[in-house]
Amino acid sequence: MAIKRLLIANRGEIALRIHRAAHEMGIETVAVHSTADADAMHVRLADHAVCIGPPAARDSYLNVAAIISAAEITHADAIHPGYGFLSENAKFAEIVEAHDITWIGPKPEHIRTMGDKIEAKRTAGALGLPLVPGSDGAVSDIAEARAIAEKAGYPVIIKAASGGGGRGMKVCNGPEELETLIQQAGSEAKAAFGDATVYIEKYLGNPRHIEFQIFGDGNGNAIHLGERDCSLQRRHQKVLEEAPSPVISAEERDRMGGIVAKAMADMGYRGAGTIEFLWENGEFYFIEMNTRLQVEHPVTEAITGVDLVREQIRIADGKPLSVKQEEIEFKGHAIECRINAEDPFTFAPSPGLVKSYHAAGGMHVRVDSGLYAGYKIPPYYDSMIAKLIVYGRTREGCIMRLKRALAEMVIEGPKTSIPLHQRLLNEPDFLSGDYTIKWLEEWLAKDA
Ligand code: ADP
Repeated sequence: MAIKRLLIANRGEIALRIHRAAHEMGIETVAVHSTADADAMHVRLADHAVCIGPPAARDSYLNVAAIISAAEITHADAIHPGYGFLSENAKFAEIVEAHDITWIGPKPEHIRTMGDKIEAKRTAGALGLPLVPGSDGAVSDIAEARAIAEKAGYPVIIKAASGGGGRGMKVCNGPEELETLIQQAGSEAKAAFGDATVYIEKYLGNPRHIEFQIFGDGNGNAIHLGERDCSLQRRHQKVLEEAPSPVISAEERDRMGGIVAKAMADMGYRGAGTIEFLWENGEFYFIEMNTRLQVEHPVTEAITGVDLVREQIRIADGKPLSVKQEEIEFKGHAIECRINAEDPFTFAPSPGLVKSYHAAGGMHVRVDSGLYAGYKIPPYYDSMIAKLIVYGRTREGCIMRLKRALAEMVIEGPKTSIPLHQRLLNEPDFLSGDYTIKWLEEWLAKDA
């Protein structure tokens, strides 16, 4: 097969990330862009560029016909979707493959299965992953719902099968609320996602979010690359991620990693994937699987030395995994700060002209960003404008280096979340690794 020209169906830092891996493999790149992104760095660096539509994502980065046409006219032989946009769209993956273009992603049927939360849970359970106790599938009957909630124990959470992005969930504290909340959740899900199906789970009071990076070759072999702790979230959006998790021992990593890798091998999974768990009192509970590259993948790269995008391209090209499980060594510590163009106190978006820009540098400092002085951040897309990823031999060393690197970053023009990260890095609870998914919002509320 051998991929020669890769179309990157995305924008911003992730488009650049993919471009860099491709060029290091001797593969040419094709950028696609909306009219709002004509001057973007991902367009400037690519070998070829095609404008695919107006600013609104549904007319450009989600415009399947325009993207396929761009691939055809530029003779691209592969498409990488990045994250977000079309990356978890099984139909798009099928269309790409039907055009004899290599899809750099999982098998479409696996994208579809994992995209349906009930189906995903059922599959994960059958593959031996530990689940949050709750209903086996959709709940429709209220008497049945009562019995399930009673068995799981209150509080429970009612979730929309088609939900996503932290939406479509309701916490129920006792039997007297159950019927009303199920009805509400159902009608809200219908309105938001076009599907009223809901299911019930035990509500975990104060868990951490810990996810495992996995890779499969599609032929029954799979490896894991350890975990990432993504508990620091605001409105279910991750703010800062680290690897390894401060609470997972090497033995636990091997044990749980072994379970997820075996599950993926048994499934015949192909490409990169992330298995997300809630973790409480030493127990893992599967919540969902993402069948794509994650924003926070660089922290895993930093502690394993494996280039995850290169690996994705290799596997899509029919090559075997480049590393065996026993060759993967987890060394040191890495932290990623997501830098958003937003007010660090009110979180209001802050797009517009970047007057000057200077990226942090030095040993073990990585900045993934499409910023440059004179760039105008368009208001149409996600507010994340840069990722700062820092490595250290120890967590303490990593945090010291991260403070140093944050102080070096200069982004003049928009407001950014850099001051938020700087405050966070001085918090005793963060320094001791003592935080859960509730911690960041409580800290922000206390400060306000
Ligand atoms: P989405 O697809 O919308 O991101 P998830 O199932 O991944 O939905 O859940 C998103 C977030 O909601 C989790 O990271 C966690 O903060 C919270 N959550 C989900 N399920 C539970 C649960 N059973 N108990 C407590 N919190 C939960």
